[in-house]
Order: sequence, then structure tokens, then C-alpha cells
Amino acid sequence: MSILAVTKGFGPDAIEAALAAGLMDIGENYLQEAQAKFASVAWPPHPIRRHFIGHLQRNKARRIAGVFDVVQSVDDLDAAAKLDEGARQSGKVLDVLLQVNVSSDDRAGIAPHAATDFARSLRAYEQLRVRGIMAVGPLDRGAAGAAFSAAAAAFAELRKETKADIFSLGMSGDLEAAVAAGSTMVRLGTALFGARPAKV
Ligand SMILES: *Cc1c(COP(=O)(O)O)cnc(C)c1O
Repeated sequence: MSILAVTKGFGPDAIEAALAAGLMDIGENYLQEAQAKFASVAWPPHPIRRHFIGHLQRNKARRIAGVFDVVQSVDDLDAAAKLDEGARQSGKVLDVLLQVNVSSDDRAGIAPHAATDFARSLRAYEQLRVRGIMAVGPLDRGAAGAAFSAAAAAFAELRKETKADIFSLGMSGDLEAAVAAGSTMVRLGTALFGARPAKV
């Protein structure tokens, strides 16, 4: 089980605090915010994975591939094609997770039962490596169990055909249910750093 430190809304000091605590995975939602912050962080010599967890816009995907090591929010083939181009330009293989939609109030993500087919379509993109599934739980925490089971089923299916090993599930408000559903990576912002500062 790993902890992804979600540092959106906080300064570079939050990233440095997470690294000082030994965390190896850092998550950001917005390209520009992340670029500015990453540039001012004193990164340690050992490998740290920078995860993009925000909505993946096609017009930013190429740059996102250059700045991040893992993109967790892949749910669109055209955006995936741009990620592949960007990864090639940066001379890297980019790890990607397929975002599945398991809650009625979330608009992002592919249907969980379509995830394995979607992964097959991504085989055409040689710079992308499918590492697993990401899902965001419903606002209604009472519905988390059923939603997370659907995401777990998608992960189990995907594992039959790929070497997928990351199941990114659970945030500060629903991490217990996510752990019970087999999460291998919880994405924690407020649980680690407190309430995010209000946007100006
Ligand atoms: C912001 C965010 C998180 C962290 O949320 P917290 O409730 O602060 O833990 C996790 N995952 C995604 C996709 C996010 O956008």
C-alpha cells in the first residue's frame, strides 16, 4: 500500500514535507501549478514519482507527459495519443492508470466494464504503459462500498491481461472503504496537510 501525497493548493513546502516523511509519490491536479511548484522543490537523489491526477485535457496532454511520471486520469483515446507523443518527445515511457467512473456524481472516467478493452486500444501507443486503475468515490460515502467494488472488479479484469499493479482508490474522506476494497494506493491531501487554502 502506498500513499500518494496530494499537494494541490499547497506550496512546495508541502511536497518537501511529504518527501521528508519518506513518501515517494506526489500528486497534482493542474499542469501550470505543478510546473511552477516542481521547479522550486529540492528533489532528493532517489526516484520520486510525480502523478497527474486532474482532468486530462487534450490540449495539455503533451506537456503533462513531459512534466509527470504517472498519469492517473486517462479516459480518452485522443488524449492518450497526445500523451504518447509527449512521452516520445521526452524520451520516456509514461506509466498510466485508466480512470473508471463508479459514481453518479463524477463525470470523468470510462465505464468500469470497458476498462480492459480500453487498455487493449492503448497497446498502439508504445510510450504508454498501463499500470492500473484509478477511481474517485461518490460524494455520498454510504455509496462507497458498491462503487469501490465496481472499481475493484475492473482492476481484477485488467490484471488478467496486463501486468497492472496499481489500484489507486480512496481519498481522505473514504480511505477506510478503499483499503477494504483492495486499494494499493490512497491519494491523501487534507488528511496529510489539513484543509486546502481557499483559492484566490
Ligand atoms: C484533490 C484530490 C485528492 C485528495 O483529496 P483529499 O480529500 O484532500 O484527500 C485525491 N484524488 C483526487 C483525484 C483529487 O482531485
